[in-house]
Amino acid sequence: MTDTSFPSLPLSDQLLSNLSSLGYETMTPIQAASLPLILKGQDVIAQAKTGSGKTAAFGLGLLSNLNVKRFRVQTLVLCPTRELADQVAKEIRRLARAIHNIKVLTLCGGMPFGPQIGSLEHGAHIVVGTPGRIEEHLRKERLCLAELNTLVLDEADRMLDMGFQATVDAILEATPKQRQTLLFSATYPPEIQAIADRVMKSPKVVTVAEEKSQSTIEQRFFEVRDEEHRREAAMQLLFDNKPQSTIVFCNTKRECQDVADELRSHGIEALALHGDLEQRDRDRTWVRFSNRSASVLVATDVAARGLDMDDLDLVINYHVALDAEVHVHRIGRTGRAGQKGKAYTLFSGREIRKVRALEEEQNITVEESALPEQDLDLAWFPKPEMSTLQIDGGKKDKLRPGDILGGLTGKSGIEGNQVGKINVFSTYAYVAVERSTAKVALKKLGQDKLKGRQFRVREIRGR
Ligand code: ADP
Ligand code: MG
Repeated sequence: MTDTSFPSLPLSDQLLSNLSSLGYETMTPIQAASLPLILKGQDVIAQAKTGSGKTAAFGLGLLSNLNVKRFRVQTLVLCPTRELADQVAKEIRRLARAIHNIKVLTLCGGMPFGPQIGSLEHGAHIVVGTPGRIEEHLRKERLCLAELNTLVLDEADRMLDMGFQATVDAILEATPKQRQTLLFSATYPPEIQAIADRVMKSPKVVTVAEEKSQSTIEQRFFEVRDEEHRREAAMQLLFDNKPQSTIVFCNTKRECQDVADELRSHGIEALALHGDLEQRDRDRTWVRFSNRSASVLVATDVAARGLDMDDLDLVINYHVALDAEVHVHRIGRTGRAGQKGKAYTLFSGREIRKVRALEEEQNITVEESALPEQDLDLAWFPKPEMSTLQIDGGKKDKLRPGDILGGLTGKSGIEGNQVGKINVFSTYAYVAVERSTAKVALKKLGQDKLKGRQFRVREIRGR
């Protein structure tokens, strides 16, 4: 058994006695997995669910790298939001309270500049903040990162979701090459790997798998007579549940397109995602689904691999998966973060053997449920919450998420909280806005210039 007590780590006595006074008796699993590597000075990517103690993992790491006598910014922690930055700063202060005179400064957007500039003049050891504001202070040369030894990207997946990638890149350019980079995330989408490849030095990846209690996923099985009945059954389940976000898994590309078309013909905003689509169309489809402009994604396992979304209401297995492992992976996409999720599986007489294999593998007993029966011609399905606008400008035009947000809000625009996910690609960008504001948003972006230029903007509709 590995030792999970804090004194097994090479930490100073001050830090150790403070930890016990905080009531931190043993390391949490992600701390036990990451701290030994972090304290060796390695770059680390750590993935574990919310509430697993990631802050103390990097907090103890950065405090160990600190030379308190040298009153310069030695650590920068980037967080996606002000709330998270405040929480992180608070936890770092708690961890550091036994060490004298450590100065932790938070620099976040939405706060007045004056006091921040004043604090920066007084100096700090540790800066915690949001990317936009940090970059602004750097640009105006109020913040110097020349003596940085530790950089932390906290909640990296959310920062990417919020479109901070370019801003984070700009900040990274202002940091020394010799540094320890730590990346923390609740999920591990492929974009994280891409960032890691660019900015980290042979990072070690540590993951603490979420214990998926089966109970957070309501799993049900429905028997269908034939293929026509299967199509109708999928529709019945959707109309009956009216979920906001659903993935329907199909085993073939052809079937994906057919099912998506059928759902659309019944007024459900469904999109197909499969390997026959061009990369650009695949990106766009995923963007539209993950930013809640489409209600249903009909996908093959391969196409959906690595794409992660943590608030999926329902997963429908249109056919039983080819093997049990794939099934577990599919249904695990719902019921994230302790939320309730539903996983429905359709099976025909021919698929009984696969269902039995699942029962064995998952140690469950499959009881067949009755399908809802309603008149599909009378049924209605809610429109998605958001709508996606496409802007024909991107990173190559130096367009940043902040520019787009700024372009949408303000005079005769829409409110910031009506703007959803922003995804900027190299030559185009997408922004989700509340459906009811799409017209106003379109008009505002169409009139105003972004980065001094007029870009073509349109709302994406259809398949
Ligand atoms: P995460 O960033 O993974 O979502 P946090 O770092 O916010 O999680 O930690 C969640 C809570 O667990 C915090 O209240 C923190 O004080 C507490 N905590 C962290 N590490 C330990 C530990 N080793 N023992 C007891 N409590 C801990
Ligand atoms: Mg955290």
